[in-house]
Amino acid sequence: MEAINILEERKKSIFEKGKENHELSCDKVSLAGSVSQRACVFCGSRVVLYPIADAIHLVHGPIGCAAYTWDIRGALSSGPELHRLSFSTDLSETDIIYGGEKKLEAALDELIDEYKPKAAFVYSTCIVGIIGDDVESVCKKVSQKKGIPVIPVHSEGFKGTKKDGYKAACHALFKLTDREPAQGISKCSINILGEFNIGGEAWIIKDYYKRIGVEVVSVMTGDGRVDEIGRSHGAALNVVQCSGSMTYLAKLMEEKYGIPYIRVSYFGIEDMSAALYDVAAFFKDNLKIMDKTKTLVREEINKIYPALLEMRKDLTGKKAALYVGGTFKAFSLIKALRHLGMDVVLVGTQTGSPEDYKLLKELCDEGTIILDDANPLELSKYIIEKGADLFIGGVKERPIAYKLGLGFCDHNHERKIPLAGYSGMLNFAKEVYDTVMSPVWKLTPRMEKNGR
Ligand code: SF4
Repeated sequence: MEAINILEERKKSIFEKGKENHELSCDKVSLAGSVSQRACVFCGSRVVLYPIADAIHLVHGPIGCAAYTWDIRGALSSGPELHRLSFSTDLSETDIIYGGEKKLEAALDELIDEYKPKAAFVYSTCIVGIIGDDVESVCKKVSQKKGIPVIPVHSEGFKGTKKDGYKAACHALFKLTDREPAQGISKCSINILGEFNIGGEAWIIKDYYKRIGVEVVSVMTGDGRVDEIGRSHGAALNVVQCSGSMTYLAKLMEEKYGIPYIRVSYFGIEDMSAALYDVAAFFKDNLKIMDKTKTLVREEINKIYPALLEMRKDLTGKKAALYVGGTFKAFSLIKALRHLGMDVVLVGTQTGSPEDYKLLKELCDEGTIILDDANPLELSKYIIEKGADLFIGGVKERPIAYKLGLGFCDHNHERKIPLAGYSGMLNFAKEVYDTVMSPVWKLTPRMEKNGR
């Protein structure tokens, strides 16, 4: 294979620990021509809001923007499943010339009459930003007509990075808060922010908190409900799991309702335990919560630890590459892989901040490649150079792994099993083990070339 060269302007966004000393360039729009792995602003909004299962999600734009449906990111619901339906105003040439406002209003009227949702979200896409439809006033008009919140999501794809989409989603969620009375909520109560219930994780985590005596008022947005979000201002603490997407909302709620927030991760033994202990410590006046937490952590770890140790025997020394959305997930994955005896040789994220990368540099081993907003060629180059045995990422990283002839583990949208919590750690370890140890990789071209 010919050497893969890095674009000159991208070099500052790549760092090899132990070899280089520069500040990692991040938190910027993607470089034109670099074919970033990042999704657009609209996608950022959609991944955050779509799991709200009793709302209509209407994509105002050409049909292509709506192509990324529930089938790709199947957030689970224990009740209504409106979020599984994909609605679009399907703007075409005539609408672009004459404007799409009438079409939007008609679509909203029809959808609300037909499905009786608790709320409707209207996502603005690139073309809507260009032609200047007044989405705000259409939403206001329909909301008054139908008596439900109709919320514009300003997510025009071109107007920034995926992070701007998260921000637009946070603004939309914020509009839903304080719409219901907050009576009857326990003093020891939390909102879980940034857990999307892709494989049923929200249910596992809610059960843990229930077992330690903490009430979960709302999950934003996994298995989400409009009315629960409406009561979320009554919780005592916001627990932010996907920090990249939801810290902004936590700050808005802190400012308006005085609810403090902590950042946690539910992936891996260490971080899952810390997420429970940190909440227990917050409610320190209730000693029972800490006692119950200690018991829960001990019981859950005892259940999975022998199996983890068994898999560790074969996985020790194997190499993993990670490319994920936010750095908090990267931190947890590095720790979880270390529990399995594996070395992380590459780690990259789509939305890391300078502070996040500073921590990441400290956490990584010498020789690890750290990348911000990578493209497929960069990922391929370092996966080959570092001899990774496994690539962990999302839907857009899977083909890279398979083309290179190495195992892939989905830690993002397409998976069907929960990877959070203690049982999730065991699922993750099994996935990693089955993938890395599969004999099929001995038959792939890369393996032949490398003589392995
Ligand atoms: S919003 Fe824009 S960038 Fe995003 S999918 Fe639609 S056209 Fe593409």
